[in-house]
Amino acid sequence: MSLDISAAFDGGNIEVVRAGAPDDIELQIRKDAHSEFFQWFHFRLSGARGQACTLRITGLAASAYPGGWPGYQAVISHDREQWLRAPSRYEDGTLTISVTPLHDHVWLAYFAPYSIERHHDLVARIGGRPGVRARVLGHSLEGQPMDCLSIGEGPLQCWLYARQHPGETMAEWWMEGALEWLSDRDDPLAQQLRAGATFHCIPNMNPDGSRRGHLRTNAAGVNLNREWAAPSAARSPEVLAALAAMAETGVDFAIDVHGDEAIPQVFIAGFEGIPNITERQLALLARYKTVLAGITPDFQTRIGYPASAPGKANLAMSTNQLANRFGCLAMTLEMPFKDHDDNPDAVAGWSPARSQALARACLAALAEILPELR
Ligand code: ZN
Repeated sequence: MSLDISAAFDGGNIEVVRAGAPDDIELQIRKDAHSEFFQWFHFRLSGARGQACTLRITGLAASAYPGGWPGYQAVISHDREQWLRAPSRYEDGTLTISVTPLHDHVWLAYFAPYSIERHHDLVARIGGRPGVRARVLGHSLEGQPMDCLSIGEGPLQCWLYARQHPGETMAEWWMEGALEWLSDRDDPLAQQLRAGATFHCIPNMNPDGSRRGHLRTNAAGVNLNREWAAPSAARSPEVLAALAAMAETGVDFAIDVHGDEAIPQVFIAGFEGIPNITERQLALLARYKTVLAGITPDFQTRIGYPASAPGKANLAMSTNQLANRFGCLAMTLEMPFKDHDDNPDAVAGWSPARSQALARACLAALAEILPELR
């Protein structure tokens, strides 16, 4: 079989510049539609079993986050289940990946992919469990359903949502971990949470960008996490639908789940600069972070984004908008694409399993502060 490279599938993204020989493959990443953002890649390499392949992805100095490439290792899989890191090195705008395929097909990606098909499997599996209510909040620009799963009977309204930025697939792996645990009828801590709170979970805020293999935007090239001040049906129906549902229930607690390209740590970005900030909100934010850091060594508070100055928060970003509007604790959770510097794993790096374990820790931390949210 001759060499073949394909990205014409759910979540695929690559363009072939040259693929004449296994040791001389040059690739580029396609931009998100109607935008300049690019960083996510996902493709299949075929026809090179047992041959040492050198894949060079070029033009990355112009990618969305050039700081994401130094120290980064690409992920590969032969079965699309287990994703391991492949030796990669970055220099002068080029990421060079070395791989010797064990089989005729091998898949490579920026992070373990989370397909729209897997999303539907998740919605079917969790939505079918006792006590879970599955509903459609609206539709994406391209007509995909905005799925929401609600669990619990308690008075506190907790919103968990992920993948506003579709290339941050670790966010939906996190959500899968959260949903599996929250819907577990036999777990006493989950029972306690369901008694105290009602959880509304949107596993994928950007299904169009996900299916298209985008990094950051929806089908119209719009960054959804800059739409929360004034979402519109023409640009951002995904946000319009979510915010309308949140306004119906109110919001006491929210986590917006993301991945960060450059920082090899897990961290939380708060809402310090919102105009309506209260001492209660700041105290809850500090308390939640302290409790979470005590529960899992994967969370830390030394490294992250600088807090915005008083009154200077961008209210077009979701957690600022929710904290300002509902007076609640609303946080942006960031996980690494690279490895986790404090707790590295040379084989898998930061991974779906670690993302899911972090989700359980985040919910355990919520259980601990739940009485303080009332
Ligand atoms: Zn993000």
